[in-house]
Amino acid sequence: MRFYPTTYTCTIAMPELPEVETIANGVHQRTHGQTILAVWTSNKPQTFKSPPAQIAEVLTQSRIDRVHRVGKTIVLDLTHGQRPAQFLVHLGMTGRLLVSTPETPHPPHTHAILTLDGGPDGIKELRFVDPRRFGRLSVTEAEYTGPGREPLTISIEDFIALFRKRKTPIKAALLNQSLLHGVGNIYADEALFHAKIRPTRHAGRLTHDELTRLRAALIKVLKAAIKLGGSSVSDYVDAEGVAGFFQLHHHVYSRTGEPCRVCKTPIKRIVLAGRSTHYCPSCQK
Ligand SMILES: [Zn+2]
Repeated sequence: MRFYPTTYTCTIAMPELPEVETIANGVHQRTHGQTILAVWTSNKPQTFKSPPAQIAEVLTQSRIDRVHRVGKTIVLDLTHGQRPAQFLVHLGMTGRLLVSTPETPHPPHTHAILTLDGGPDGIKELRFVDPRRFGRLSVTEAEYTGPGREPLTISIEDFIALFRKRKTPIKAALLNQSLLHGVGNIYADEALFHAKIRPTRHAGRLTHDELTRLRAALIKVLKAAIKLGGSSVSDYVDAEGVAGFFQLHHHVYSRTGEPCRVCKTPIKRIVLAGRSTHYCPSCQK
């Protein structure tokens, strides 16, 4: 399996697991160990899943211990007084988390600003910017575990058990966030291609071998994308950030009618579970 980095030119795709992990890692590197001195919020009702006053109360004077990813959610582990708490950031379609100096002008559609003590580098701001407002901010004192299982760490036995007796097409099952969380349209199509499985196959009828291949392919495409994102992490979290996300050199996703990179058969597009689905009719059985 080979991957080639290309520039992303279209901004309609939602960030999936690799993009969210890249951003979480970048924010972690720039903010962990720092204390939140002050909080400003726009108070737009769509954005705030917890009341803004509660978010400000929990975040102010909390220390950021770790920033990581759970599913497609960025989780900031906090120490709030003596108690643990978490700040949850879901980017939605267009949400961005930016680490800026206070002098950097605020981008339009800024909905939250966390002023950080910044350590030796001086005061910094962690900003949440979201033009379309599908992103969500909340705080919790319970540990957030996400809606489903982690695709990168699930065991082969548990992976196979997830799809047992499922009558839905495997593509729909992969997108079901209560089974595996973090997998979206792009990586579902790509993983099914590399596993040589047609997206319309009933999940419950896949063999042990096919599911073993699918898990391996999914982990491989997700890890390759995380690796690609890691090299350009500053493009996503520093200062203004960028509008779109990195993409791998796709094999099937968004390549309708183009020749399969393995067998030259034109890639086919169908709509499955309401989503564009791309596959090679020859390679994928
Ligand atoms: Zn093919």
